Amino acid sequence: MLALVASFAERTWGVDGVFADGPGLSFVADDGRRRGDDAPVLVAHSTPELARQHLDDPDAAGPAMTAALRRLLDLPEPADTVVHRWSFARPTGDRAAPYLLDDRGIGVCGDGWGPTPRVATAWRSGHELGAAMAERLG
Ligand SMILES: Cc1cc2nc3c(=O)[nH]c(=O)nc-3n(C[C@H](O)[C@H](O)[C@H](O)COP(=O)(O)OP(=O)(O)OC[C@H]3O[C@@H](n4cnc5c(N)ncnc54)[C@H](O)[C@@H]3O)c2cc1C
Repeated sequence: MLALVASFAERTWGVDGVFADGPGLSFVADDGRRRGDDAPVLVAHSTPELARQHLDDPDAAGPAMTAALRRLLDLPEPADTVVHRWSFARPTGDRAAPYLLDDRGIGVCGDGWGPTPRVATAWRSGHELGAAMAERLG
């Protein structure tokens, strides 16, 4: 995933977050509201497809992501933009099991072990793995 951080002169939008359905963007969050300082800053996540095209040069995705963000929320030109690459931001596959615990006692857990690659999935996966390990160890 690529994350575009776009700073504006002033807040001209009225939403805290938006799930986008492309092109190029999947999610936009109001970073000033998240931090609590109300800075006019938006963070936009790319789609995996757009990220894949720009993994070697994330900055090159900046203009397309900025244009998509501006179109989505009818925004003026941002004062500043930064693109950050999150190479392992999302699991690429699905797993039905909530964790792995093999015969040697090696356990694996995380947000790839559940329906959505989110904090709640990672927490539940780790919690259930811990419980299974404790039970096995008696
Ligand atoms: C930009 C962004 C925004 C997000 N926003 C949200 C949100 O608003 N809400 C939400 O629910 N989720 C959000 N997520 C998803 C959330 O961050 C993840 O689902 C969650 O962090 C997964 O937790 P985890 O413990 O499975 O993996 P991680 O948090 O990725 O932890 C894995 C750890 O293992 C370490 N590691 C990796 N390989 C090795 C190695 N070989 N040796 C040693 N250490 C290693 C890494 O350094 C890392 O510390 C967001 C993700 C990103 C990238």
